[in-house]
Amino acid sequence: MSSADHQRHVLVLDTGGTIGMTKDDEGALIPKFGVFSKEVAENPRLNDNVYAKKCEQNYKGFDKTYALPLGSDYKRVLYYIKEYKPPIDSSQIKLENWKTMAEDVKHYYGDFDGFVIIHGTDTMAYTSATLSFMLENLGKPVILTGAQIPLQEIGSDGWDNLLGALSFAGLYVIPEVTLFFDKKLFRGNRVTKIDCNKFKAFDSPNFEPLATMEPSLSGAVCRRLNGRNYLFIAFSVNWCNMLKKTKDEFKVDTDLSPKVGLLKLYPGITIENVTSFLNEDHGLKGVVLQTYGVGGSPTTFLDVLSKAVKENGVLILNCTQCIKGTVLPTYKVGKDLEKAGLIPGADINGEAALAKLRYVLCKSKLNNEQMTKMMKRNLRGEITLLTA
Ligand code: ASP
Repeated sequence: MSSADHQRHVLVLDTGGTIGMTKDDEGALIPKFGVFSKEVAENPRLNDNVYAKKCEQNYKGFDKTYALPLGSDYKRVLYYIKEYKPPIDSSQIKLENWKTMAEDVKHYYGDFDGFVIIHGTDTMAYTSATLSFMLENLGKPVILTGAQIPLQEIGSDGWDNLLGALSFAGLYVIPEVTLFFDKKLFRGNRVTKIDCNKFKAFDSPNFEPLATMEPSLSGAVCRRLNGRNYLFIAFSVNWCNMLKKTKDEFKVDTDLSPKVGLLKLYPGITIENVTSFLNEDHGLKGVVLQTYGVGGSPTTFLDVLSKAVKENGVLILNCTQCIKGTVLPTYKVGKDLEKAGLIPGADINGEAALAKLRYVLCKSKLNNEQMTKMMKRNLRGEITLLTA
């Protein structure tokens, strides 16, 4: 077996985010083109420069090769970086950005074993949820990651996040869109940002993480032995929870409906507020209604909700505003919403609910009843269906 047999190729799509940010004149963080790739190139934990230089240059049109240090299993992850211009703070994300990412995965799908998407943490869970629907019959890992502290600063969490994402993308066949952060790999349409200050920025309250990464060998992740860096990492993968690879052809669906909205109920919200939100002139075709507990809302809203569904053809998904748990027909107030035509959202989270609506609303061959049925189905592991 030649050494090339041990090589895995990963494409990194860098969209921006804190991980590659630098400070402006006032000390505020801004994305800057080239910072991410420069930092990575110079860090021996992320790039074995000597080995990378020996590798084939100009692989699939990329003139620079990066190489992770050798893993203890002697597999070598080579990677290539495509930096988007300009890199963005993810608060600026638009539907077009998602289309670009999905199209890039499609374009390079045959050339790489896996994909890592570098992204700001603020909207990363929205992107991972949306991509999970856009990428159909995915057979390779697509992993989003980023950092709470820039790579340029001492104590950045970006190094470990990147190392984990690259390792999972290169060494494992995980046929899903996932998000790797603070040692955990989460399903992309189950994860949510829970903390904007701590390294443990994400959680997946309704679904166990798919995998974890821990340092092995007395806590070391990267060790220098005989003048060479080696990675010592213990990966643990929960294969039972993983989506199964299908034989169907990989497809990318870039159509996303912009006509979706999210309304969170709160005590004191008026019928006028709800009516104005659902006003036909605003053109909403899909709404995520974040209701109380297992799915309750003031009964005074039933008429306006029912009118939106039955007369204006709006798909309204009844989701709980609790961060953990599922919508259930336990209470009359909840059952009445279903009778009014709302779709029970089970345990889907807000990010995935919006993404699923955007995707399903573009199935132009389906009528409203068929779209409603599709919304109730588990398409990419985004909901847990309770069997009677
Ligand atoms: N504002 C940043 C972003 O989402 C935050 C981060 O990356 O952590 O781009």
